[in-house]
Amino acid sequence: MPMEARPDAMPEGRMAIPAPSRRRLELRADCDRCVALCCVAPAFSASADFAIDKPAGQPCPNLRGDFRCSIHDRLRPRGFAGCAAFDCFGAGQQVTQVTFGGRDWRAHPGLAAPMFAAFAVMRRLHELLWYLNEALALGPADPLRKQLDEAFAATKRMTNSRPDDLVKLDVNAIHERANAVLLRASDQAREHAGRPGPDLRGADLAGKDLRGADLAGASLRGALLIGADLRDADLSFADLTGADLRGADLSGAGLETSLFTSQPQLDSARGDSRTRLPSRLIRPSHWALAG
Ligand code: SF4
Repeated sequence: MPMEARPDAMPEGRMAIPAPSRRRLELRADCDRCVALCCVAPAFSASADFAIDKPAGQPCPNLRGDFRCSIHDRLRPRGFAGCAAFDCFGAGQQVTQVTFGGRDWRAHPGLAAPMFAAFAVMRRLHELLWYLNEALALGPADPLRKQLDEAFAATKRMTNSRPDDLVKLDVNAIHERANAVLLRASDQAREHAGRPGPDLRGADLAGKDLRGADLAGASLRGALLIGADLRDADLSFADLTGADLRGADLSGAGLETSLFTSQPQLDSARGDSRTRLPSRLIRPSHWALAG
C-alpha cells in the first residue's frame, strides 16, 4: 500500500499539511486570478468536444468582457464538453499573475501573443509538476524520493522564468527526462502493492468491451480508452497516466487506488454513483445523470 506522505516542518502546536496535499491545491485552476487564457490561446476544432471551430489566439465567442464564460453552467448541453473537462493545473494564474505581473491581453494587446505562447509552455510544466507531486504522494523511498524532489524543484524554478526564456524551453525533452523517474515511481508503487499487472502502455482499447475486466496493477499509460466500456472493471493500482478516457464508461469501476488519475480524465468520462474514486478527486456532476 502507498505510504503516508512526509509532513512539512511546521511551528509547534500547528497541524502540518502534507506537501503533496498543499501542492494539489496550488496545482488547480484558479480562474478568478486568470484572464481566460484557455478560452483564447488554443485553437478549437469542431468535434464532440467543441461546438465550433476557433483559431488560436482568438477569443471564444462565449467569453464575456470580464473574462468569464457566458455558458459556464451549461457547457456540455451547448456542445463544449472539452471546456468542461479542461484543467490547466494552475498554469493560467501563474502566467497571468507571475509571468506577466497581473496584466491582461485585452488592456495590453501587445502582450497577447507572448502571453499565449507562455501559457502553452506553462501548461506542460504545471502538468509535469502535478505528476511529480502525485508520485511524491505515493511515498516512495530514497533514492527515488530525492530524484522526484529534485525534478519537482527544477520544474518549479522553470515556471518562474521570464516570458522570453519560458518559450525557449524544450518541454518535450523536460517531460521525457522526468518520465523515467515517474515510471520508476509507478513500478515501485505497483510492486509494493503486490499488484504488478499487464503492460498496456499506449494500447488501443478504444471502444473495447472491458466490462468487469481485471486491470488491477496494469500500466495503462497513454492507452486509448475512448468510449471503452469499463463498467465494474477493477483498476486498483492501475497506472492511468495520460490515458484517454473520453466517453469511457466507468460506472461501478474501482479506481480508488488507481495511480496518476486526474480530474480532467474523470470529467471527460462517464460514471455513476457506484464508481469508486480516489478521495482527492471529485465525482463529476454530469455523472449523476448517467447513474
Ligand atoms: S487557463 Fe486555467 S485558470 Fe485560466 S481560465 Fe482557463 S482553466 Fe481557468
